[in-house]
Amino acid sequence: MRFMKTTENKDNVRQAVQRILDGYLEMNNHRKTPERYAILKAVYSMEGHFTLEELGAKLSEEYKFPVSRATLYNTLNLFMELRLVIRHRFQGSTKYEACYEGDSHCHQICTVCGKVTEVKSPEIAEAISQLHMKRFRKDGFSLYIYGICSTCQAVITRRKKNKNQTRKITE
Ligand SMILES: [Zn+2]
Ligand SMILES: [Zn+2]
Repeated sequence: MRFMKTTENKDNVRQAVQRILDGYLEMNNHRKTPERYAILKAVYSMEGHFTLEELGAKLSEEYKFPVSRATLYNTLNLFMELRLVIRHRFQGSTKYEACYEGDSHCHQICTVCGKVTEVKSPEIAEAISQLHMKRFRKDGFSLYIYGICSTCQAVITRRKKNKNQTRKITE
């Protein structure tokens, strides 16, 4: 199991994902454009979930390597095919995330404000590894748990209280 990500680990991951991209491009006789490698590097230096815009901003501001929206989109689609990136359709926004081996995790999603938090659960990881699937090799998982965050819960409780109070006054 991989719980800790050290810098050394991150470098290894970066090299490994680059090799996957190398292999794919060579095998399919695609050109090794610098864009693809710059985008891959940016993806693997983003923390957690990010939007297409945030990735574009990182490339143009930090790497001084501006890439068109269409190129970003197409390249991310390629990375998804290679299982280097995962796309999440969260409430009202599409977010991407680097995923390479053992990066399986759970997301808790507030259905009121849409806030997404990552949760690590060794119990769930263990349960899924024990899960027997027919004619299927498991590679990883991404789980969504829906509910209401404590901030939204507090707002809802306050609103209910206010309603009850006004009712009492008018009664
Ligand atoms: Zn919330
Ligand atoms: Zn995630």
